[in-house]
Amino acid sequence: MVRFTVLASGSKGNSTVVSGGHTRILVDAGLSCRELFKRMRQAGEEPETLDAILITHEHQDHINGVAVTARKLGIPVYFTESTHRAWMRWLTPKRQMSYAQWLEQCKQQAAARQAEADAATPEGETDEPDTVDLQTKEEEPAPAAGQKDPTWLPAVEYFEAGKPFVIGDIAISPFTIPHDAADPVGFVLQAEGVRMAVATDLGYMPPNVKAQLKGLDLLMLESNHDLEMLRDGPYPWSVKQRVLSRVGHLSNEAAAEFLETGYDGQAGYVILGHLSESNNHPELARVAAERALSGRASLLANRLLLAEQHQPLFPIYF
Ligand SMILES: [Zn+2]
Ligand SMILES: [Zn+2]
Repeated sequence: MVRFTVLASGSKGNSTVVSGGHTRILVDAGLSCRELFKRMRQAGEEPETLDAILITHEHQDHINGVAVTARKLGIPVYFTESTHRAWMRWLTPKRQMSYAQWLEQCKQQAAARQAEADAATPEGETDEPDTVDLQTKEEEPAPAAGQKDPTWLPAVEYFEAGKPFVIGDIAISPFTIPHDAADPVGFVLQAEGVRMAVATDLGYMPPNVKAQLKGLDLLMLESNHDLEMLRDGPYPWSVKQRVLSRVGHLSNEAAAEFLETGYDGQAGYVILGHLSESNNHPELARVAAERALSGRASLLANRLLLAEQHQPLFPIYF
């Protein structure tokens, strides 16, 4: 059985559980681990059965709980390499140092490397499990048990936009979205013949995204703000410009335009997501989408739902 459960959606945290066959994936981990587990249990999902975490981009509302959740469950995190690096940079404390301090640090590191090379013997190998691809690629050794390093994860897997891959029984097609992050993606997830898409955090609907959102059984689409509410709303002008830009967020109007003209009308469910709490009202988003979908002939398709920030949506079964 295939199941799609939105745990949270919005600028304070995004996370969805997708289950198919014997596989369960968490798409984004934008709430604390504790809150994620609480909401999963509320929605009838068991956190302990998750197989992997899949990340769309490194903004906090998508990644906040990733490290603690992955460590607690001992499961891999799937990123693009750029997203992973951006996240690691964000977590690494920034230090200012003078040129002299920098030179001194380089000298000390060189001396330490030399000492390590001199001391290396076959008996010196540790019996750490060999699961962390990333850390074998990086210069720095994995910290013991990883507890000290905030970026430590039990396992990291890289994917690339445009290159489909599989996690257990779920096939995943990541696609590039226009958004102000290092390498942001949306996903089409397919299991047991059911196709589900997550397309939030995008400034506009470029042709490559429209092409992905065809032949779906479920479409989760951003409907972030009402243009007038944003214009008249509380945000400073610079933030308004960012939201409105081509790498910002999709408005109710832009989502509706896509639903009316660019979408094939086939999905059984359309979930509006990432609604702004300051610059949108659920009824405005709903009405815009309903109007756009009203011309669709099939009564069985396009059941419209609104994902919420503060509580999970009921699980959708296929
Ligand atoms: Zn977001
Ligand atoms: Zn974002």
